[in-house]
Amino acid sequence: MTAPKVADITVQEIKNQAVQMAKDLAVPAFWITDWLLYVIDKPAVFLMTDEDYQLTDTEYERFNTGVTKMQQGTPLAYLTGKQEFWSLDFIVNKHTLIPRPDTEVLVEQVLQWISAQDKESAPNATASNKRLLDLGTGSGCIAISIAHELKLADKLKLLSWQVVAVDFSAKALEVAKYNATANKVHNIEFVQSSWYSELSTDNTQLFDVIVSNPPYIDEADEHLAGLLAEPISALSAPNHGLADIEHIIKYAPQYLRVDGLLAIEHGFDQGSAVRQLFINNGFHHIQTIQDFGGNDRVTLGQLNKDSL
Ligand code: GLN
Repeated sequence: MTAPKVADITVQEIKNQAVQMAKDLAVPAFWITDWLLYVIDKPAVFLMTDEDYQLTDTEYERFNTGVTKMQQGTPLAYLTGKQEFWSLDFIVNKHTLIPRPDTEVLVEQVLQWISAQDKESAPNATASNKRLLDLGTGSGCIAISIAHELKLADKLKLLSWQVVAVDFSAKALEVAKYNATANKVHNIEFVQSSWYSELSTDNTQLFDVIVSNPPYIDEADEHLAGLLAEPISALSAPNHGLADIEHIIKYAPQYLRVDGLLAIEHGFDQGSAVRQLFINNGFHHIQTIQDFGGNDRVTLGQLNKDSL
């Protein structure tokens, strides 16, 4: 029996190859170095300070297995089981969409609107409960990021927010619940529901804000082929990707208080169709906001008084 061969490969060698490897695999270069750091369990600075570190056989084997999986279409976030969003850490798995940086625009818009509303009512503010609904929460990233910020704001004010996050997938809800606890956010109620199906239309249960990043990619979009590792039900919808968005906007007036906010993420080419749906269903102050790449990504509107 011969002793197992020590992998003769250093951090520096992998670093040097990372750009070419990423090119060959058609993945971002940071996937290779982030995966390396994950395997050797070291912080990012290690890539600078410890270039001479030699991987053990087990580490090198694990690194290569991951690279092969990337080649077969597994995204980095599913290999490491985590993704950062809004500076918080989220676990993700094949039951949840991987949070995208562009979705932070949606979170930002909702928080800005809430903060502007708070200022308007500040002079004679009295303690009151506000409610926010996140439809199709997935990993919980939107609801948890917003709840996290509101918790910080609540400490200073009299407003107290109640957040409800729904998903039709029980498996996704398990992930979202874990993420809420891990991020020390405790004011979210998780409900298994197909959009609004399990929610009450009772007057006392109306929401001040409804937010959603629903599936919106056209079923015929070739871009979908590159996203096959993620749940298709979280990505794609019929009617050129607009079917779920249309449902959410159409029924929102039954669950939203007058002047409440509806904020929806959508495809880069769906801005005008989504604004039209907002108009048709009784919303005002409608505006579309662009993502970090300059594409239409989020549309917001407030509910008219006489919409029902
Ligand atoms: N923005 C994602 C993408 O284009 C899709 C997210 C979604 O369908 N909600 O990759």
